[in-house]
Amino acid sequence: MTDHEIAIVGAGLIGAAAARHAALAGLDVVLIGPGEPADPTDHDGPFASHHDSGRITRHLDSSAVWAELAARSIAEYPSIAAASGSEFHHPVGVLWADRGPGGLDDLAWSSEQYDVAFEEITAGDDPRAVPWRFSDDHAVGFEPAPAGYIDPRRMVAAQRAAARAAGATTDDGVVEHLTRGHDDVTIHLRAGEEITAAQVIVATGAYTAFLLRSIVHLPIVPITAAIILGEVTPDVAAALHTMPAMIHRIGDGDYVDVYAVPPVQYPDGRWYIKLGAEVLPEVELRSSAAVNEWMAGAADEWQSHLRTSLQSVLPDIEFVSTAVKPCMYARTPTHFPFVDRIDDRLFVAAGGNGRAAKSADAIGSLVVSLTSAGRWADAFDHEVFRVPR
Ligand SMILES: Cc1cc2nc3c(=O)[nH]c(=O)nc-3n(C[C@H](O)[C@H](O)[C@H](O)COP(=O)(O)OP(=O)(O)OC[C@H]3O[C@@H](n4cnc5c(N)ncnc54)[C@H](O)[C@@H]3O)c2cc1C
Repeated sequence: MTDHEIAIVGAGLIGAAAARHAALAGLDVVLIGPGEPADPTDHDGPFASHHDSGRITRHLDSSAVWAELAARSIAEYPSIAAASGSEFHHPVGVLWADRGPGGLDDLAWSSEQYDVAFEEITAGDDPRAVPWRFSDDHAVGFEPAPAGYIDPRRMVAAQRAAARAAGATTDDGVVEHLTRGHDDVTIHLRAGEEITAAQVIVATGAYTAFLLRSIVHLPIVPITAAIILGEVTPDVAAALHTMPAMIHRIGDGDYVDVYAVPPVQYPDGRWYIKLGAEVLPEVELRSSAAVNEWMAGAADEWQSHLRTSLQSVLPDIEFVSTAVKPCMYARTPTHFPFVDRIDDRLFVAAGGNGRAAKSADAIGSLVVSLTSAGRWADAFDHEVFRVPR
């Protein structure tokens, strides 16, 4: 007899969201996947793109697809928090900077569509821009709440708790491989157990193509990324409690974007401002082993870029310490997540492209709708989320 109606492999942001939606739809669902490694330097299981405490959330986006995914997800934050009793959303606003004039014009569509009172401001004079600094040739704009940031660790915990409250079960095993049976799929765990389910959603982020390699070719490629954590004292963090998150679209040379989250208290009890960057050329990680080697390392090649960036946008902040940490994006050729059917029992929801933390709830909802309806039943055009074939 099949153990569950539906199994979700990968208990990250998208998988945990899918588990909540499946449980709320009344399905018998199990969410399978481990938590965060205790010591990244000595870990042979999967890593994740969300093992951090700050991710920017916002309505505005130059892509209408990403803007709609964000809007749907942001609208769900209060019910996820209420169902789990856990707060993860900090609506402090987002400061946007681009070389102007006209540098922010592409955001007008989502501003109008979602009635977001986006306002261009003079960064040097406006308290909403404090303490960020940009050179005078920049256009700067402020997107108010509910934009701001989420704590992705807390969001995963909240989604899991809400899923369990709605009847989901969880298993912290690592999946080695999947095999197709006549009426179900068998999920083989590293520890030796097997779980069967009538339908399986694979939401294993950067590892998805590797896990499904023997079944299907998926063009989801892990890309290296890194962040810098600038530690501030609790007093500085308290003084900066209204500081917005920030996106600086540089768009020249090697840099694409620099983005940062205001002081957040991390699991070690200390307060950090987090800054990351998207750089070119992107470096691809071609195997699980390559992903794990990158994630266990020190991102040496990013150290000086990130330290210089942090200093440049926050020259007035005194940092107690700084530390650079590796991370990874799951890149698809479409730059949108894949939400698609592999066959009649196997589905994929992965490919965050560095954008999916804020929008994971809507992506999880889309894949559950696809599995339970048996066809694409959403107002979005499915072509956007299909695996190219
Ligand atoms: C530095 C950085 C900054 C970012 N900033 C932002 C931001 O500001 N705003 C934003 O919206 N997004 C941001 N993102 C993107 C966002 O974090 C990702 O898009 C999101 O985490 C993707 O969610 P996911 O569930 O697909 O993958 P993940 O969060 O990586 O989760 C995948 C899960 O699958 C599990 N798994 C993998 N293999 C197996 C296996 N074999 N068996 C069982 N489980 C497995 C892993 O343990 C993990 O828990 C950022 C990403 C990075 C790296």
